[in-house]
Amino acid sequence: MAESKHADLEAWETALRAAVLSAGAKVLEQLLQGIGSGREPRAIICKCGARMESQGLKHKEVLTILGPVTYWRSMFQCPACQSTRYPGDEEFDIMETTRSPGLRRMMARAGSRSTFKEGRDDLKIYAGIEVSAKDIERVAEGIGQQMDAWVSQERKEILQDHGLLRPEKTIPILYISYDGTGVPMTQEELTGRKGKQVDGSAKTREAKLGCVFTQTTTDGRGFPVRDPDSTSFVGAIESAEDFGWRIYGEAARRGLSKAERVVVLADSAQWIKNLAQMHFPEATIIIDLYHARQHVSELCKTLFVRNEKKIRQQRIRWWTDLDDGKVEKIIRQTQQLLPQDAEAKKKAETEIHYLEKNTEYMRYAEFRAQGLFVGSGVVEAGCKTLIGQRLKQSGMEWSVRGANAIISLRCILTSGRFEDYWESRAL
Ligand SMILES: [Zn+2]
Repeated sequence: MAESKHADLEAWETALRAAVLSAGAKVLEQLLQGIGSGREPRAIICKCGARMESQGLKHKEVLTILGPVTYWRSMFQCPACQSTRYPGDEEFDIMETTRSPGLRRMMARAGSRSTFKEGRDDLKIYAGIEVSAKDIERVAEGIGQQMDAWVSQERKEILQDHGLLRPEKTIPILYISYDGTGVPMTQEELTGRKGKQVDGSAKTREAKLGCVFTQTTTDGRGFPVRDPDSTSFVGAIESAEDFGWRIYGEAARRGLSKAERVVVLADSAQWIKNLAQMHFPEATIIIDLYHARQHVSELCKTLFVRNEKKIRQQRIRWWTDLDDGKVEKIIRQTQQLLPQDAEAKKKAETEIHYLEKNTEYMRYAEFRAQGLFVGSGVVEAGCKTLIGQRLKQSGMEWSVRGANAIISLRCILTSGRFEDYWESRAL
């Protein structure tokens, strides 16, 4: 009997993949030949208006998902201003980059999902592609910026002409929800900014995240059901005003004009309310129930200092009142319980004032009876996963530019628009 052969399947498959990729790269190199070179049927015109002249073939190494390939194409130069153009590069979407579109797409995805180093390791293991972590960072950030530009161009067009969007059917309820979360920043991005550190300095800047989703029905028990795959996100580190237009544009894209009912779900940070009143004046504003409960908890702690049992008992009662939408009752009762201590009294009054200001946004019993969501869990989960898991890992420090690029990428990915972006480039 013949001796059993020793085999190492993993070594074979890895070696074969490398061989197949390398053979594929050779085929690809052949396919590229002759494109973007030879006689141009049309005149190549410079930005300055002059007709450019061919300077013959130049080559560049293009890194593709099959490996490096050499690409020969014609270079055109402007006799007037000396600018150069490579029509072949334009055709293949590799202007000013040596990474192919397919590779860039992988690098952007890898860099948006985990750290740039992990992205590098993933690409090596999953695809046999070797690039540096720095390279992934550069490409992912570049594409994130281009995606942001794509989204803002789209927003501009939508806001100029709502007719561009013709949602086929009306949307029963459109929700708009937003929140903020701190992103750790490099020193340069923080100089002169006030923050929550003991010495008044800042370690983070606030990224604003918004989401839009829709609801068509309630379940058998009357609880609201979010339409599947209906949630899209936008976000950035930017001023409240700029963010206002960003989320408004997203709501418009998602069919704001066709919504029978618009609901803004948020905690009650003042900028959030201002935004709602400026951009969505017709909306029902609902303060997230869990934020409201937190305020009531704080109130209990201030009123019944250290009396744990009393704090617990009263909290349950008032939470029930809150659920029933009886905010006035809570206010009335707390006013009779104001503490003697001046500082505690002031604190309690601040919380009471919060309840007074927001009474109309806390009619939870009514909202529930109408089958509406009363918690902003979707956007809070977004802050944790979309921003926190990628941008708030220990030791991370971001530039505004870098953070915004990655936030853009992750918003596009999470909103299921990654392919739309690449298709828009291929047009
Ligand atoms: Zn020119």
